[in-house]
Amino acid sequence: MPSARVRQEETLRARVVAAFAGDGELARAVPGFVARKSQAEMAAAVYDAIEAGGTLIAEAGTGTGKTFAYLVPAVLAGGKVLVSSGTKPLQDQLFRKDLPAVLDALHINAAIAVLKGRANYVCLHRMARAESEGLLPSREDVVHLRSVIRFASMTSTGDRAELAEVPENAAIWPLVTSTRDNCLGAECPRFAECFVYKARREAQAADIVIVNHHLFMADLTLRDDSIRDFLPIVDTVILDEAHQLPSIAADFFGASLSLAQLLEAGRDTRSLGLSRAPDGASWITLTARFERAVRDLRLALGDAGLAIGSRTPVERITRRAELIPVFDELDGCGAEVLRALEINRGRDAELDLLIGRFSELRRELHDWSKALAKPAHADGNEWPAEPSEQNAPSVRWISVSTHGAQFNQTPLAPGEALARARAAQPQAWILTSATLTAADRFDHFLAEIGIEGATTARWNSPFDFPQQALLYLPKSLPSPNDSGFAHVVAEAAWPLVRANGGRAFILCTTLRAVDKVADRLRQLMALDDQQLPLLVQGTTTRRALINAYRSSGSAVLVGSISFWEGIDIRGDALSLVVIDKLPFAPPDDPVVEANIRYLRRMGRTPFNEYQLPEAIMLMKQGVGRLIRDETDRGVLMILDERLLTKPYGKTVLASLPPFARTRTEADAIAFLTRKPT
Ligand code: SF4
Repeated sequence: MPSARVRQEETLRARVVAAFAGDGELARAVPGFVARKSQAEMAAAVYDAIEAGGTLIAEAGTGTGKTFAYLVPAVLAGGKVLVSSGTKPLQDQLFRKDLPAVLDALHINAAIAVLKGRANYVCLHRMARAESEGLLPSREDVVHLRSVIRFASMTSTGDRAELAEVPENAAIWPLVTSTRDNCLGAECPRFAECFVYKARREAQAADIVIVNHHLFMADLTLRDDSIRDFLPIVDTVILDEAHQLPSIAADFFGASLSLAQLLEAGRDTRSLGLSRAPDGASWITLTARFERAVRDLRLALGDAGLAIGSRTPVERITRRAELIPVFDELDGCGAEVLRALEINRGRDAELDLLIGRFSELRRELHDWSKALAKPAHADGNEWPAEPSEQNAPSVRWISVSTHGAQFNQTPLAPGEALARARAAQPQAWILTSATLTAADRFDHFLAEIGIEGATTARWNSPFDFPQQALLYLPKSLPSPNDSGFAHVVAEAAWPLVRANGGRAFILCTTLRAVDKVADRLRQLMALDDQQLPLLVQGTTTRRALINAYRSSGSAVLVGSISFWEGIDIRGDALSLVVIDKLPFAPPDDPVVEANIRYLRRMGRTPFNEYQLPEAIMLMKQGVGRLIRDETDRGVLMILDERLLTKPYGKTVLASLPPFARTRTEADAIAFLTRKPT
C-alpha cells in the first residue's frame, strides 16, 4: 500500500495535470487559454523533477506555453521558488502578468517579489550627493536629476523602469545608481530607506522571487560581496531562456578590467578625498598622475599595434613586452593613491571603500603584467595540463575602442564552474528554453553547462508550420563571403518587403552588413518611390527601435544578432523574416578561436561539437521571431546557399520547424499577399 506521502504526491501530480485540461483551473480563469497536451506533459515532468530534487532540461517549442508549464507545478509543489529569466521584459511579464494569473487560477496566496540588479534602482545616497555637489556637466543632466529626485520621493520601488521620462541611456543614471564598489551597505545613512535593500529584503521574504540570470549568477558565484547570499534559500530553481546561461556563466566565471573602471576610481578618489579629507593628501596631484598613467596605457596599446575595434588574444600581441613597463607605472601610481587612502582610513566610510577597490585593481593590473611577461604557449593560451577548480583553462584578450580598452580573461569551459555550483545546491533545477537542441540533440547544451545526471525532454511547437509558414531559399546566390553580398541580400529581399508593405525583420550576422543592407534598401525604396519606415540598429536603442516598429505597422527593421531573440511580435505586424546567412561565430574572435583550439586539443571536433550547434541554436532563435501563435502566417527567407550545398546544411534545415518550402520568389510573394483561409 502506498504511503501517505506517496499518495499526496500522486494527488498533487494529478492536480498539476488536471489544471491544464480543457475544463481545468487555467481554462476557467485565464481568458483565451487553450488546452495543449504538450503543456500538460511538460508540467508533469517539471513536477516530477521538483519532487525528485533533480535537474530537468526541457526544450519547449514556441507556443507550448512553457511559462505556465513550470509555474503551475512549482506553485502547487509549495516551498520557496526562484524563477530566473534572461531578460528584463520577461522578468516584468512574469511578475505582473503570468505569475498573478497562475496564483489566481489556482486560488493560492503567495508572496511574490521581483529583484533586479542594483543598477536598476535609484541610490538615494548618490542621488543626494549628485544634488549637493552640483557638478553636472550639462543642462540635460540637471533636468534629468530633478526628475529622478521627484520620482524618488513618490515611488515605492525606486525601479528606474518606472521613470520613462529619463531615457535608459541618460548620462545621469550612473550618478544616481550604485555599484557594488561604491555602495556603503549598512554604513549608509540612507540604508533604512534604500530601494536596493528594500527589494532584497522583499525577495528574501517572498515565496516566489523572480530574478534575471545575471543576478542569479552573482548570487551563485557570491560576487556581490557587500551582501552575500542576497537571494533566499529556495526549494526550486527555474531557469527560463536557459540557452543564455553558458555565455552568462562565461562572463561571471571570467574576469575583466576596463580603463573606464580605472578612470572612475581615480575620479571618485579625487572628489571624495577633496570633500571628506581635504587635508589628508595631495588628492589632485595623486589622481592626476594615476589618470595620466591610465591614458598612457591606452596610447601604449595603440603603439603595440592594437587598432580601434580590435579584439586580440594576448599571445598575438607581438610587442606585448613593451606594455609591461606601462602596466607597472600604472600600478605604481595606484600604489601611491592606495597609500594615501590607507593613511586616511577611518575618516569617512565612502573614502574607505576605495581602499578595497584600489587593492583589487592593483591585483588585476599585477596579474595582467605577469600574463604579458609570460612566454607564449605553443598554443598561446592559459591551458593547464590538468585543469582544476583553481586552474581552469581560459583565454586572455584585449579589446580596444576609440578612447577605452578592456582586459578580459574568459574561461573556456565555464560549464565546469557552473556544474560545481549546481552540485553545491541541493534543490531541483529546471532549465528551459525554446532552443536547447541542435539536430534534435541536447549534447552541445549539456556539454556547455557541464551539469551531469540531468533528465532531458523536448516538446515541439504545436503550430501548423507547413500551413502557417513558407521557407523561401532563393536560387543563384553568390557566396555569403562575397564582398557585394549585403547588396544582394537587400535586392533579393526588396520585392518581398515591398509586396508585404514592410512588416519585415531583416536579420544580419554582423553590424557591417546591417549598414550595407540598410543603405541599399534606402536606395531601392527611393528608386521605386516607395518609402517605408526603415529602422536600423545603431541609430537609437534596441527598445526604441522595437517600439517604433510596433507602432508603425509598415516598418522594416534591419538588425544584427541582438535582434535575433527575445522579441515577440504577433499577428500581421511581422510576417516576413529575412536572414542573410548562417550565424557562425567569427572564427577569428579570440574566445571562439581559443575554444576551437581547446576542443581540438581535447581530441574533439570543434566544427561539429561547437561551431555548428551554436549556429543552429542561434538560427532557431532568429527563425522563431516569425510564427508566434496559431494564427500567425509568414515567410522566412534565408539567403545562404550553404544550406543546400554543404553537408551540414541538411542538419541545419532539419533543426528548423517543418515549414513548407519554395525556391521561387513568385511563390513567396503569393504566400505573403494571399489572405488567410
Ligand atoms: S545602501 Fe547603497 S544603494 Fe542604498 S542608498 Fe546607500 S549607497 Fe545607495
